[in-house]
Amino acid sequence: MKLLSLRGWKAVELEAQPAVEVVPEAEPAAWPEGVVIRFVTVGGAHVDVTGPEYSDQTSWYCHGCKDKSQYPYAGYLSSTRSKANDHASACRALPKPEVSR
Ligand SMILES: [Zn+2]
Repeated sequence: MKLLSLRGWKAVELEAQPAVEVVPEAEPAAWPEGVVIRFVTVGGAHVDVTGPEYSDQTSWYCHGCKDKSQYPYAGYLSSTRSKANDHASACRALPKPEVSR
């Protein structure tokens, strides 16, 4: 049986059917406090948009390359969302793995 793996999802090829069924692997982890929108980057890291949703104080931060909102640091959600999504579409930084001791 051929299996495909997508981040957070598992595709299972059914033997009697040519179709591929996509089912969630597990319940997604809760987002950190204050995160309004979360984008996944090309490299698999997250770009988080935070701040009061209906304000001009939203900003974004990339957990892959550590880049963040600049000029201005904070703005309205419509602008911040677009910039965060653009960054996620281009960022190839991998998420930093947990350090084992
Ligand atoms: Zn990045």
